[in-house]
Amino acid sequence: MSQDLYELLGVDRDADADAVKKAYRRLARQYHPDVNPDPESQERFKDISRAYEVLSDPQKRAAYDRGGDPFVGAGGFGQGPGFSFTDIMDAFFGGAATGAGGRGPRTRQRRGQDALIRLEIDLAEAAFGVSRELKVDTAVRCSTCHGEGAAPGTHAVPCETCHGQGEVAHVQRSFLGEIRTLRPCAACRGFGTIIPDPCRECSGDGRVRARRTLTVKIPAGVDTGTRVQLSGEGEVGPGGGPAGDLYVEIHVAPHDVFTRHGNDLHTTVTLPMTAAALGTAITLPTLEADVVTDEAETEVETSIELDIRPGTQSGAEQVLRGRGVPGLRGGRGDLVVTVVVDTPTDLDPRQEELLRELAAIRDEEKPSGQVRPGNRSVFGRLRDAFNAH
Ligand SMILES: [Zn+2]
Ligand SMILES: [Zn+2]
Repeated sequence: MSQDLYELLGVDRDADADAVKKAYRRLARQYHPDVNPDPESQERFKDISRAYEVLSDPQKRAAYDRGGDPFVGAGGFGQGPGFSFTDIMDAFFGGAATGAGGRGPRTRQRRGQDALIRLEIDLAEAAFGVSRELKVDTAVRCSTCHGEGAAPGTHAVPCETCHGQGEVAHVQRSFLGEIRTLRPCAACRGFGTIIPDPCRECSGDGRVRARRTLTVKIPAGVDTGTRVQLSGEGEVGPGGGPAGDLYVEIHVAPHDVFTRHGNDLHTTVTLPMTAAALGTAITLPTLEADVVTDEAETEVETSIELDIRPGTQSGAEQVLRGRGVPGLRGGRGDLVVTVVVDTPTDLDPRQEELLRELAAIRDEEKPSGQVRPGNRSVFGRLRDAFNAH
């Protein structure tokens, strides 16, 4: 309280009324509780407002300059006509400057929360879509009170404490004058109404928990982590408020044959060494085979023929275009088949004899086992780059 009022406003002792007003405006904008809600700023705002009240009033300023206490005499601060805290605020910030308040009663109806459930499906269901029945536990509207929260035959009545306003004025006297704030009414918790006889089924909440069965349509192309949104199937809000949404989060179970990479499917086939060398045709099941129960009634291919060219190496890939997973936004991925050549084991004498003969004919009895320059090594790429010039 002993701080110099001129210092508080940051003006000289001989500052004129205009300079005092300007200084106050600048500081008030900086420390106004609406701008700076922290307690320190609020204290500072009170201090500069106090300084302004004295220095903007020629009589009080003169008294202060003489070394007197401007707050003593004349009934003290705030009791003079027309200079309450609220007035200061209004003068500078317009009628709505008093901050909190004026919101009126809050509604009992609020939107309910979203709900999330997880659903495991298999790869074919994820690829081609599926309808599933789900059991969900959520808050639903109380059928006894229809969400109102009042026992049948009764209704909410206006709160007598706040006269239905949902908030009550608190008037605080201070050296600044009357500080009037609006606070939520404790009697009705800000609703403005009171339920005298709450519904016994829902204890006045307007909703109860219940298990429902929903049919959810999972679109083709979903993957692990995809969330299917069901609007309005989440938790019903309090007071009969609208329901939130239900999200079904997909988890795709691993498949025995196919591995998914984005919209592509990968699989591996193992071939005998002789088949890889001589070439052959193999039959592969398709992912569609998982969902087709009666092949005769559908045109979906449950298997595909795959040509293995003579001399196929272990690790060779064949890409079957459009045999992967349909995309959520159209298109379809590929099926990538990797061949693994199976080296024969447990040769009987006849088989060994034939293989030795073959090795002799091919001059492979003592292969050098040379390291093949691979394109993948750094040195290989460097060498290729030099050779290209
Ligand atoms: Zn109820
Ligand atoms: Zn009330």
